[in-house]
Amino acid sequence: MEEKHTKIREIFESIQGEGPYVGQKHIFVRFCKCNLNCEFCDTDFDSKNAKNYDVYKLFNELDKIKCDTISFTGGEPLMDVKFLNAFLEEFKLSLNKKIYLETNGLLFEQLNEIIDLIDVVSMDIKLQSATGQPNRFNCNEEFLKIATKKEVFVKVVFDNNIIQEEIETCAYLAKKYNVLLVLQPKMPMDCDLKIEEIYNKFYEIYENVRLIPQVHKFLNVI
Ligand code: SF4
Repeated sequence: MEEKHTKIREIFESIQGEGPYVGQKHIFVRFCKCNLNCEFCDTDFDSKNAKNYDVYKLFNELDKIKCDTISFTGGEPLMDVKFLNAFLEEFKLSLNKKIYLETNGLLFEQLNEIIDLIDVVSMDIKLQSATGQPNRFNCNEEFLKIATKKEVFVKVVFDNNIIQEEIETCAYLAKKYNVLLVLQPKMPMDCDLKIEEIYNKFYEIYENVRLIPQVHKFLNVI
């Protein structure tokens, strides 16, 4: 069956370098497809560099790794929702690991199909000012409504191009759904990045906001 196979770019153990789980060991499973084309993207989408997996092969590979959390990342893992659903329905209990989803926070219908099998949602809001992709805050809100059935935090990558409307929309959205808002400076970081000024604009609206850079890049960890 088609939903039991997909291409996976890589599987590796490393230190989570983003968000509130920073410093924790995760197994990363990187999918190949994405629905966006962000300017700063560093993901290799060439399927020639990916391997074919079925749900059994993926289980065997993940089951032998000593680590409590599997981070599905991309690309956008929800582009492979049929595969993920088939895999988690069959193996979530046997794996006995926390399932952490890293997502660009847009594919809310796909999230709805799988939310019961996810433990933590790391939801990006991709800003036009940082990614070159149009803002789609309505989709972000639909996504957040579903994600709040589980543990979720929102992550926003920013640089000096961020505009007030983006700050207000993200801060009010996180406030409305009472979720942690993580601000992550875009890398490579501008030496004149107005970090405190931008942070304070978010904080004026919503106090549950944290500034967390991509720690793995500072530590030179993959
Ligand atoms: S959403 Fe992520 S993987 Fe997709 S293009 Fe943007 S940065 Fe790359």
